[in-house]
Amino acid sequence: MPATPHLIPSVIQGAASAIQSHAEEVSALDQAIGDGDHVVNLQRGLEALSQQAESLAALDWPAALQKIGMTLMASVGGASGSLYGTLFIAMGKAMKDREMNLANLAEAFGRGVEAMKARGKADRGEKTMLDVLIPVADVLKSAAEHAIAPGQLAEEVSRAAEAGMESTRDMLATKGRASFLGERAIGHVDAGARSSQLMISAIAEVVAE
Ligand code: ADP
Ligand code: MG
Ligand code: MG
Repeated sequence: MPATPHLIPSVIQGAASAIQSHAEEVSALDQAIGDGDHVVNLQRGLEALSQQAESLAALDWPAALQKIGMTLMASVGGASGSLYGTLFIAMGKAMKDREMNLANLAEAFGRGVEAMKARGKADRGEKTMLDVLIPVADVLKSAAEHAIAPGQLAEEVSRAAEAGMESTRDMLATKGRASFLGERAIGHVDAGARSSQLMISAIAEVVAE
């Protein structure tokens, strides 16, 4: 686990290329049960972060996470923008005066996800990106309690993200635009769950290297 945010540019790059290479698929998911703009929203945010990548890498972790959150809040728009913004701003707060290690990362990510749940008044089982983020937070927490090799952690994170993403397929949506569709949303994976799974798996790969 790096002590400084020098990994940030490659993390941003990894997330951006994961979305880029699945853009049509994720757009189709948001078209099916949302309004179709999810990829464009995310790409706006990832492009804004790419432009700041070098300056983010020069900050300490709390400041970098805070700035990432502010940038996403301002650039992404849509439901996902304020939720991702909230996630990173809360992570930045939780990392204040703490060194970067797995235990502190796990706690900060857990707090970020809690802040997101509060912001969106949503929880697991409502067919959103929380169905990916909550199980990933659980994996990080249990990995921090047991000594685990970085490669194995990346694998477990990816596996949890994928299972969470798949779990949204048969859910009824109770939050976000898909909730307007009632039973018609069943059978479709949630776009935000798919995009967060893609980005998390890409980031896990970068960090494990
Ligand atoms: P919008 O729905 O405003 O067009 P996006 O398309 O960018 O915004 O993002 C939609 C995604 O946001 C959904 O697929 C879902 O995963 C997530 N989402 C929507 N509402 C919530 C919520 N209350 N809590 C958590 N995630 C949510
Ligand atoms: Mg949308
Ligand atoms: Mg929209």
